[in-house]
Amino acid sequence: MTIDRDVVIVGAGLAGLSCALELQRHGVSSLIVEAGNQVGGRVRTDQRDGFLLDRGFQVILTAYPELSRYLDLAELDLRRFDNGALVWLNGKGHVVGDPFRAPTTLPATVLAPIGSPMDKWRIAWLRHRAHRVEPNRLLRGQDISTATALRAFGFSNTMIDRFLRPLFGGIQLDPALATSRRMFDIIFRMLSDGHSAVPRTGMQALPHALAAKLNNDCIRLHSPVERLDGTTVRLASGESLRARNVVVATDGPTASRLLGIPEVHSRQVGCVYFSAPEAPTKKKMVILDGTGKGPVLNVAVMSNIAPTYAPRDQHLIVAALPGVVDGDLEAMARQQLRTWWGNQVDAWQHLETYRIHHGGPVQAPPFSPKQSVALGDGRFVCGDHRDTGSIQGAMYSGRRTAEEVRASLASHTP
Ligand SMILES: Cc1cc2nc3c(=O)[nH]c(=O)nc-3n(C[C@H](O)[C@H](O)[C@H](O)COP(=O)(O)OP(=O)(O)OC[C@H]3O[C@@H](n4cnc5c(N)ncnc54)[C@H](O)[C@@H]3O)c2cc1C
Repeated sequence: MTIDRDVVIVGAGLAGLSCALELQRHGVSSLIVEAGNQVGGRVRTDQRDGFLLDRGFQVILTAYPELSRYLDLAELDLRRFDNGALVWLNGKGHVVGDPFRAPTTLPATVLAPIGSPMDKWRIAWLRHRAHRVEPNRLLRGQDISTATALRAFGFSNTMIDRFLRPLFGGIQLDPALATSRRMFDIIFRMLSDGHSAVPRTGMQALPHALAAKLNNDCIRLHSPVERLDGTTVRLASGESLRARNVVVATDGPTASRLLGIPEVHSRQVGCVYFSAPEAPTKKKMVILDGTGKGPVLNVAVMSNIAPTYAPRDQHLIVAALPGVVDGDLEAMARQQLRTWWGNQVDAWQHLETYRIHHGGPVQAPPFSPKQSVALGDGRFVCGDHRDTGSIQGAMYSGRRTAEEVRASLASHTP
């Protein structure tokens, strides 16, 4: 057994890839050992008969600062959603736009039956606040759940159930809105600063683009790690790798098991894909369940946003069921969407159901991002569970862990 790398990273999700890239930028070589057959972790795209199926409905928020550190966003060839949402209620879709960026949506937004005029004014006020306040201030002050915060802001139950719950419950995989208010503030700011988008070739284009910037032979796939002994990495194959430093960049629950750090609880989500000969709407927006009851809270006709997601003359519809992984998700989705779009739903073909048991870490109040990543004795941990449960959080944690690893290497250099 020889020490042939300064750093071994366990996991080729966004955190592990960002960590390796940041190290490489500073001349530090690393080896990533990844259990799966491809890079990306929770950001994977399956190709099925000409359809692109992201493993769970997810989007890139272009305002994430970490993205442009490593990528020119043009590389991802992003296809943007229209700002705002289409709220489905009483058999009709109601446009709730962002009149600051799309003034033509103002009349529809004012008329949308999602809440009172005061509710809509409060959204405008939150938007103003999100822009004015320095980002770090959003993380200060007493922390409470998103649901409590929304009530404290004065939002009516109607506004919460018809708009805020399906929107933020969908993004946070948390229909109860029990997640920290701090996460709500961060996401609200990202939504109003940038756009939601998917790469032309699917969400996995993001980890692929990061991996493509790494030196050859930097990633070993099909290499699940069984355990760690100090900084010795024991692979399930029986092979052992010794390094000066080990970074565990797995999902939170696996990191807890490998490192013995406190347990990370999971937010879950189900996702069902259908193909259809006709799109049920032409809108390029996220469609929200205006009852807020679900189980489907968000739907999107992906082929409206990125035609590359479906073969010609076909459409791809995704239904997300935050918090729901058990039972017949296809039947649940069909039953609910039939009440929206009628019998055409029966003609849709089921393509795939994903049950994601660890969609992200629970981030209940009091929530503090930027948890320590240096565990001592050459052991480090990164991933979305150390920062915010998001693409941004995973990438940021990878970068700041790389900085800590470099500091550790420098302190041990004679
Ligand atoms: C359905 C869904 C929707 C989402 N929507 C959004 C969204 O719209 N916007 C957003 O910003 N974020 C979203 N997220 C969250 C975002 O995808 C994650 O926060 C982020 O991808 C986490 O990256 P990570 O590198 O921390 O962890 P992971 O992606 O989990 O990567 C960990 C890697 O470690 C590997 N690994 C695990 N165990 C081992 C082992 N023993 N040995 C070797 N390798 C191992 C895994 O195979 C994996 O590749 C969503 C997540 C899901 C699931």
